[in-house]
Amino acid sequence: MELKEVWIIKTLNNIKEQRLLIHKKDYVFYHIDTLEKIVQHTQKFAAHCPHCESNKLVITNIVTNLANNINGSIQSRDAYEKELENLLSHLKTTHNLKYKSYYTSLFSLLGILIGVTIGALIVFIIDTNLLKHGILLGFVFGLIVGRIIGIVKDRKQQHI
Ligand SMILES: [Zn+2]
Repeated sequence: MELKEVWIIKTLNNIKEQRLLIHKKDYVFYHIDTLEKIVQHTQKFAAHCPHCESNKLVITNIVTNLANNINGSIQSRDAYEKELENLLSHLKTTHNLKYKSYYTSLFSLLGILIGVTIGALIVFIIDTNLLKHGILLGFVFGLIVGRIIGIVKDRKQQHI
C-alpha cells in the first residue's frame, strides 16, 4: 500500500473513532462530515499542490485533537472552526470546489430575478392590468430555465 493511502485511511479511521466521543448534535454542527470530505480532496490534490501537501499536517493535527477540541473550551472550538474554514477556502479558491447544488441554487435565484423583471416589463408595455400574471409567469419560467442551467453546470462541477 502506498504511503499516501496509509495517511487517508489512518485519518478517516481516526475521525471515525473520535466520532464516538462527540455528541451527535456537535457532529452535525461542526461539519465533521465535511472534514471527512476535506481529507479526501486534500489527498487527491496533494500530488500537485504543495499547499494541500502541507495541509495534510494541519488536518492530522485537527483530527488528533478533534474530540478534545469540540468537547473543550469555546476557544478550542473556535480554533477548530477557523482551521476548517481555512482548509475549505483553499479548496474553493485554488481548486475551484463548490458546495453541492451551488449552481442550481444560484441560477434558480438568478432565473427568478430575471424572469420576474422581464415578465413585469413585457406586461407593463402590453397591459398593466396583467401585471400579477406577468410576474407569476416570469417567476415560474425563470425558475425552470435557471434550474436547468444550474443542474447542467453542477453536473460538470466538482463538489465539496
Ligand atoms: Zn491545494
